[in-house]
Amino acid sequence: MAHQLRAEYGPEGPSGAVLKWHVVRTGEPTMAMCGAPVDPGAESKPETAWGTGLRICQQCGSLYLHEVPFHGAEHG
Ligand SMILES: [Zn+2]
Repeated sequence: MAHQLRAEYGPEGPSGAVLKWHVVRTGEPTMAMCGAPVDPGAESKPETAWGTGLRICQQCGSLYLHEVPFHGAEHG
């Protein structure tokens, strides 16, 4: 697996709600594809959780679709 989803939390931190999910490359787990720093302790999900209704960081999402085109096939 080449990518993971990592949580970004709101002001309450990990005890609060997940603000959005960034996509990270597994070789670079502390930096999101959009350039945002990712807390090493943030919750992670496998990339198969993509498209299950999670709120994904828009910038990460568009970069991810370039790297994993099969996800974007339906969008042309
Ligand atoms: Zn992002």
